[in-house]
Amino acid sequence: MFDYHAKEDQLKDKVILVTGAGAGIGKAAAIAFARHGATVILVGKTAKKLESVYDEIEAAGYPTPVECPLNLETATEKDYADLAEQVGQEFGHLDGLLHNASELGQLGPLDQYDSAMWNRLLQVNLTSQFLMSKALMPLLAEAPNGSLVFTSSSVGRKGRAYWGGYAISKFATEGMMQVWADEVEGITHIRINSVNPGATRTAMRARAYPAENPNNLPAPDEIMPLYLYLMSDDSVGVNGQALDAQ
Ligand code: NDP
Repeated sequence: MFDYHAKEDQLKDKVILVTGAGAGIGKAAAIAFARHGATVILVGKTAKKLESVYDEIEAAGYPTPVECPLNLETATEKDYADLAEQVGQEFGHLDGLLHNASELGQLGPLDQYDSAMWNRLLQVNLTSQFLMSKALMPLLAEAPNGSLVFTSSSVGRKGRAYWGGYAISKFATEGMMQVWADEVEGITHIRINSVNPGATRTAMRARAYPAENPNNLPAPDEIMPLYLYLMSDDSVGVNGQALDAQ
């Protein structure tokens, strides 16, 4: 596991947006950031799931989060502009943006890959992240040390048969991280990196490996040290890196 021990108030007064915050790794990240003092903006498809994360954060006495239901498959540039305006009006800046939401899509040979599924997957796993980052970049620049984190996968770093559009979208995510990180290097205080969570006990993992015993995998909250590190000022100066949570 990535070795980092966040102080209790490590993210105090930071404002961090997490996509896919309603379940799995995104939910664990939202709660971990809030536990360490951040105000978290919860973005995800299913409003009910965001509400339950909101309630959990409130009940624990952490800073009150903000709920923003948004379907990344259908969201338009206008939706991202509205989101940026809302965040700007409420906070004036954004300290962290964690692109975590993804879909697995279809597993199987590429020559049998459904083209509608391909388009949908690239929209959710890649294009939405480009559009959201573009809209929120000015608010990240307003923060003293803005941190943008993309979520990759081991199949986004070395191709593997039958992982289809998912693997290719993750390769493209790594590419976007590298290009953007190089563009901001030495020009702004923003740092941009990617995380490979590694095998983690979530609904997506269970779909990809139905025969696996989930109890042999770490739970999402166990892989949080790297996420906390990348959102904390301890990672200032780390830019363009592809990192592993485990
Ligand atoms: P889950 O499937 O458990 O959670 C995915 C989250 O993304 C859900 O909150 C879901 O919201 C949200 N989401 C999916 N589609 C959309 C959409 N169209 N619009 C908005 N939100 C959406 O996945 P994990 O927690 O396992 O994965 C998190 C990240 O980690 C992903 O990027 C994944 O690729 C990556 N990863 C995971 C690994 C693992 O072993 N778990 C290994 C390697 C990488 P809702 O529930 O409302 O649909």
